[in-house]
Amino acid sequence: MSATLIDGKAVAETVKAKVKEGAEYLRTEYNITPGLATVLVGERPDSRVYVASKQKACADLGMNSYGKTLPADISQGELLDVVEGLARDPNVHGILVQLPLPGHLDAETILRAVPIEKDVDGFSPLNVGRLSMKNREPMFVPCTPLGCLYLIDSVGTQIEGANAVVLGRSNIVGLPMSFLLLHRNATVTICHSRTRDLPGITRNADILVAAIGRPKFVKADWVKPGATVIDVGINEVPDATKKSGKRLVGDVDFDAVKEVAGAITPVPGGVGPMTIAMLMQNTLTAAQRAAGLIK
Ligand code: NDP
Repeated sequence: MSATLIDGKAVAETVKAKVKEGAEYLRTEYNITPGLATVLVGERPDSRVYVASKQKACADLGMNSYGKTLPADISQGELLDVVEGLARDPNVHGILVQLPLPGHLDAETILRAVPIEKDVDGFSPLNVGRLSMKNREPMFVPCTPLGCLYLIDSVGTQIEGANAVVLGRSNIVGLPMSFLLLHRNATVTICHSRTRDLPGITRNADILVAAIGRPKFVKADWVKPGATVIDVGINEVPDATKKSGKRLVGDVDFDAVKEVAGAITPVPGGVGPMTIAMLMQNTLTAAQRAAGLIK
């Protein structure tokens, strides 16, 4: 392996240790315990797992979590009432509405009910708008792209002036990632399902972020030697050697690409652990702001 392995698990542990210290300080000095409310609508197994892991992280770091588990057929009005109640609750510093919501609910309206100062996921239209403009500071940045940026910085990759290619243009990952890199003065190319000649574009990337949800899609000869490769994808593939009969792989053909890249994240153990660490960091920030300790 020639690439440096970017150990997301280790970096996430460092972030979480600092967050734990910050939460402890708030509790002992100001009698404030950072609190995260999670809103889960319906029974999607993956969403339940994500919410449970966020609640566990809160407990591990000395934060409160307030879980709202709601039926899949809840009305838009009832869900709005729940979110508005959390918005008014002074013990709740961050509100996370687990996406996707069932089809009959309008996610944008629900996310708009999350006040900007409690929008620890960074998905409310105001925060999204600020992130997409020049010289505007969002109060929070979406956790997965923020984690990716942290990992790029963790290996000292120069972002300013670099050619950065982002594969994927979702609201959750691809688009906010592109803005973060742009604000750090990278020259950013955003690719999607209609992009022509992907390999021709990715071969120019000093920084390549793959967030498309296609197993092992990015091949070794698509990657510029020495590039920093961040693999956001989480894909289940069959694996007869595993008890479960399956395993997780990323969007990057890791075994081949690691021989070409300068630094690379594995899946699992790369971006995934960073997402929760950044959520915890954002929740602490929200509590520190509520206490008037930071802007
Ligand atoms: P979406 O399905 O919302 O978006 C996928 C994007 O990839 C779209 O922009 C789509 O293009 C593009 N795309 C799909 N197929 C191709 C292709 N063949 N060539 C080029 N572009 C393509 O996914 P998400 O952004 O939500 O997630 C992406 C991946 O990241 C998934 O595997 C997901 O599980 C993972 N993920 C991981 C997280 C973590 O914490 N590690 C957090 C969130 C997501 P178009 O817009 O044209 O349709």
